[in-house]
Amino acid sequence: MTVPSALQSSASHAERLLEPAWAKVTAITPEAEGIATYWLKFIDPAMQAAYSFLPGQFNMVYLPGFGEAAISVSSDPEDRSVIGHTIRFVGNVTRAVSRLKVGDLLGLRGPFGAPWPMAEIEGRDVIIAAGGIGLAPLRPPIHYIMNHRERFGKVFLLYGARTPSDLLYPNEYKKWGEAGIQVQVTVDRADEKWQGQVGVVPMLFYRFRMDPNSVVLTCGPEIMIRFVVYEGLARRIPSEKIYLSLERNMKCGQGSCGHCQLGPYFICKDGPVFRFDALEAFFNVEEF
Ligand SMILES: Cc1cc2nc3c(=O)[nH]c(=O)nc-3n(C[C@H](O)[C@H](O)[C@H](O)COP(=O)(O)OP(=O)(O)OC[C@H]3O[C@@H](n4cnc5c(N)ncnc54)[C@H](O)[C@@H]3O)c2cc1C
Repeated sequence: MTVPSALQSSASHAERLLEPAWAKVTAITPEAEGIATYWLKFIDPAMQAAYSFLPGQFNMVYLPGFGEAAISVSSDPEDRSVIGHTIRFVGNVTRAVSRLKVGDLLGLRGPFGAPWPMAEIEGRDVIIAAGGIGLAPLRPPIHYIMNHRERFGKVFLLYGARTPSDLLYPNEYKKWGEAGIQVQVTVDRADEKWQGQVGVVPMLFYRFRMDPNSVVLTCGPEIMIRFVVYEGLARRIPSEKIYLSLERNMKCGQGSCGHCQLGPYFICKDGPVFRFDALEAFFNVEEF
């Protein structure tokens, strides 16, 4: 996969990739139990104006005394005024982030990684399949598609979470639907108020006739990704039209330390977005 132009850096951009720059928390949106979106601005306005990312890229989020964690950018790539990170509080860094308040600072390094291939997939139908917090790195492509709706064919969002209260961004589905995205949501376990679908994300493929020229973008638990790939292939969507975003433990974020290696690839540098045909040998769908 080619290096995105955003990463072909000037000296100052290269420095930003090595050294965290301070950003202020301007707002916090609680999303679900143990998950919130942090809206950030670099304290240096010139840096904020210069910062751009491509859908699917991530930043290393840094808190002194706790360390760094890779976190996808979940906001609109064309809104340069703010950077959104949707964070699940699971460990050292992310639990420390959960204690931040509006006005506090955290460090950002980035953006890193190969993005979703938004320009290459223009003209096609797009199936976005996400599970749980896997919707966070897929929200920028949703924004991108809404910003350039005429460039895409039919667009389906197939999204699932464990319970209704685990669904991310529920207040945005109506707006996405009005922009011509067919939003289908499912949960593993309903509660008494839930009137929607119950079941796993790959099941949602059965609700539509999908064109074999479609493109699939998927992120979520690996077991879900495997079944999404399987459903895509079963509809004759070729493996080079199926893109997935993978998470692995990361340290440096730029292919030096080897923490996130998968076969010949570094997830941080060659991914996190991969074409399925590149990963097929290391990601055996038939196993399941
Ligand atoms: C490219 C990329 C993009 C990512 N984007 C996001 C994002 O947008 N939002 C987000 O919240 N996370 C994201 N992650 C995951 C995040 O980097 C990890 O969860 C990271 O380990 C958190 O750091 P920590 O120091 O808080 O936890 P650590 O101290 O590293 O981990 C603590 C414990 O939590 C476990 N753990 C780690 N990750 C998870 C997980 N995802 N679910 C359950 N248990 C886990 C670990 O196995 C460990 O036992 C992304 C990861 C990658 C590689």
